[in-house]
Formats: sequence, C-alpha cells, structure tokens
Amino acid sequence: MSEPSDEEIRRFMEKYYPEYADNLELGRILYKRFMKRRRHTGGGARYEEYKIGELQPRMRVVVQGVVIEVFEPFEYEGCAVCRRRKCNNPNHRGRKVWVVDGFKVSDGTGTVFCSYIHGKDEEGVDVEEGDVVRVYGFTKLYKNDVEITADKVEIVRKHPDIQEENGSETETGSATEPVHTGSAVSGNIDEESLRNFLEAIDMFGKLKKSLVPQILQRYGLRWEDVSDYLEVIVEDGEEWVRLKKTR
Ligand SMILES: [Zn+2]
Repeated sequence: MSEPSDEEIRRFMEKYYPEYADNLELGRILYKRFMKRRRHTGGGARYEEYKIGELQPRMRVVVQGVVIEVFEPFEYEGCAVCRRRKCNNPNHRGRKVWVVDGFKVSDGTGTVFCSYIHGKDEEGVDVEEGDVVRVYGFTKLYKNDVEITADKVEIVRKHPDIQEENGSETETGSATEPVHTGSAVSGNIDEESLRNFLEAIDMFGKLKKSLVPQILQRYGLRWEDVSDYLEVIVEDGEEWVRLKKTR
C-alpha cells in the first residue's frame, strides 16, 4: 500500500532520469531517495516513512513490517516525567514504575528492535510474532544498533492462525496445491500461511535472503515450500529474494 506503483516510478524516471526510465528497480531506489516522503501525523508529531534499512539515529519515523520476535516485558523505576532511571531535571517530580514491551520488526531491508514504554497501570502493545505492524517512534543508537522507541504501534494485520487451520486438514488439497520435492517431513503446506508469506514478500518488494529463514519460521514454512515462487537476485554484493515475475 505504501509502495509507489510501477506507473508512478516510470513517470518519475521519465522526468528526471529518462535514460534509465526502463530500469524500474533503479527507479524505485531513486524515487525513495528523492521524492518527498509521505508524512504522517500522530499526537502532533510528524513521522516520516522509512524502510528499516534506511534508519539512522535521532529520526522520527514510521516503519511497517512483520513482528519476528516478541520479548518478555520488563519493569524499571524511573522519573515519572521523562522516564529516565536517573533524572537530573529539578522540575521533574515523582518516580514511577515503567514497563517496557519489546519486539523486533523486519521489513525486508533489515530488522529493528522496538520498545514501547508505558506505566504499569496503562495498556501496552499486544503484538504477536507474525503480525504486520506500523511502528511510529523515535530512533536511537543502542550498542551500535538503531532502535525505535515507539510512541504508537498499529496492527495492520494479525498473524495467520496456523493451529486452527491444521485442524481442518482432512479436506483434500486443491488442484493448485504446489508439488513437494522429496522431504522426510510429509504433510500439506498450509495454503493460508503460504499466501500470507507471499503477500509479506510482495509487500517488502524484495527481502534480504539472510532474513528469509526467520520469516519462514514465523509462518511455519520451509524454503522448499516457497522456493518455486521466489527468485534470488544479487545487488550490491547482497543476495535478495523477490517474487518471481509471472507472465
Ligand atoms: Zn525526569
């Protein structure tokens, strides 16, 4: 949804880089670099849409991706105003127990740890692995990694309920069922999971190949289940996967 269409890219390229106008892949990169980013407002603050791989410290951002890991919430005591453990501001009064909900989000260009801090008596974020989310927040550097301190987390789509679907696998497969190649573990691919996985890849556009195993695991799939639908490309010395172009 947030991705510009091929037509948009083509128009942009014909205007600014006509000699490369038929290179959509390059167009997509240039478009994101130079076109005005879509802006979002939330609680009066402005958030700019970024891919996770583009994040730098001290940016107000919104990213969209799949939750690939959720951590146990933890508590700490800090300033009731600024939430710092050690607060030097003489105008800040009171201490409070804060709860940190932490999770990792991946969008195909990278993975980022996100935290959402709230009071013990306030509602936290209720995300689960496999959910597609939008995270609004501020980036900071922590041990050489960029993290997002979230102001708001929206769930775009819940993860597939694989448990429930396995319960109804007595139904015979449809004619379009993909063919398995010799695997010791037999069993049907969950078509809903496969569809959700392919939708996620489609949303990413392309995904670093090194991130694929994590994503597959979240959807209960194996590489053999999806390899027929994907192609591997090499860009900047990095391997990426994307959906095979049909037709
Ligand atoms: Zn303070």
